Amino acid sequence: MEKRPYEFELERIKALIKERGARRVGLQLPEGLKTVAIEIAAEISKETGVDVILSGNSCYGACDVDEKLARIVDILLHFGHSENPFRKHFLSEERTGAKKECNSFGNAFLSKKRFVLEENYQEKIIFIELRSTVDINPMVESAIAELKGDSVGLVATVQHVHALNEAKRVLNRSGKKVVIGKSHSLKYDGQVLGCEFSSAMVPCDEILFIGSGSFHPAGLTLYTGKRVIAADPFTMQISVFEPDELRKKRYGVIARALDAKSFGMIVGIKSGQFNLSEAIALQRKAAAKGLDAHLITMEEITEASLLGFKVDAFVNTACPRLAEDFVHFNKPVLSINEFDVVLGERSWDGVWQ
Ligand code: SF4
Repeated sequence: MEKRPYEFELERIKALIKERGARRVGLQLPEGLKTVAIEIAAEISKETGVDVILSGNSCYGACDVDEKLARIVDILLHFGHSENPFRKHFLSEERTGAKKECNSFGNAFLSKKRFVLEENYQEKIIFIELRSTVDINPMVESAIAELKGDSVGLVATVQHVHALNEAKRVLNRSGKKVVIGKSHSLKYDGQVLGCEFSSAMVPCDEILFIGSGSFHPAGLTLYTGKRVIAADPFTMQISVFEPDELRKKRYGVIARALDAKSFGMIVGIKSGQFNLSEAIALQRKAAAKGLDAHLITMEEITEASLLGFKVDAFVNTACPRLAEDFVHFNKPVLSINEFDVVLGERSWDGVWQ
C-alpha cells in the first residue's frame, strides 16, 4: 500500500477496539480527508470485525465533534484534531465554579451546560491527531528566502508540531533566532488553532506557520498584526500574509454595522461552539443601548441561513472565524469584540487584543 502522508494510528485503534470490546465504531474526518474515509473504514472493519459508521457531517475542528453519532456507537474516532483542552476546562469549571476563560476573539469556546450533557459520553471520543509523515526540512529551507527579519515565531497545526524542533534547527543554521511559544490552552508548544494563537504571541519580527491552507495564517496575521509566511509541507507552496489588508476588511464590516438598529445574536449549536450565556449577555448589552437584539441558533452559519432574518446585522458567538474566512455575507456579521466596538465599549485598535 502507498505510504500515507498522515499517521492514522491504526494499530492503536485496533488495540483500543479490542480493549473496550467495541462492536460499533464511528469515524469523523475533517473535510479535506473525507476522500480516504472509505479506505480507513474498510481497513478497520476488515481487521477488527466491528461495524463502522462514517460521519457525513461537516468537521471543522475539535470543537465540532459529531455528538449524535457518538450516542449510537461504542467509540467515536475523531481524526485530525488534538483533544480540545476547552472541553476539560469547562467540565472542571462546572465542578469548581472557576472563572470562564475566553479565546483570542472574546468568544468563550464552550458552554458549561453543553458539556455537562456531553460528559456521559466523553470517554467514547478518541482524538487521532494525524501526525504528518512528510519531511519538512526542504520546505523550511525554501521558506527561509521569504523571511525578512532576524527573529521568527514558529508555529504549526497539530499535524506538524512534532517537527517544530527540527524546523528550528534548520532556521538556526541559517542565522535566524527562533521562538516556539507556549500555548495558553493547547496541548503542544507552538500549536495553533484557527481561533487560538497564544503560542504566536512571542517577541519576533515575523511568523513562520507550517501547515496547509489559508485559514490559520490569515487568522495569525490578523490577530498578531505580524507578517506571516505560510509553508505547506505537502504542496511545498510558500504564501505570505500581511495584516493590513485583512484588518481593513474587518474595519469595513464594523463601519457598516455602526448604523444598525437590530441584531441577530447567532448561537452555534455545534459541540464546542455553543455559547448561549455570552449571546444573552450581548443581547442585554444591546438592549441597554436601545438596540433590538434576537437570539438565533444555527448549526451551519451560511448566507442562506441568515437570509430570511429581518435584522440589520448579526453577531456571531459560534466559530469566530466564520465571518472572516469562509463565506461572503451580505449583512455585517461581527465577532463579539467587533460588536463591542459598535456599542462604543472597545476601541477600534482593541479588536485584536
Ligand atoms: S476556528 Fe472555529 S472551527 Fe476551528 S477550532 Fe476554533 S471554533 Fe472550532
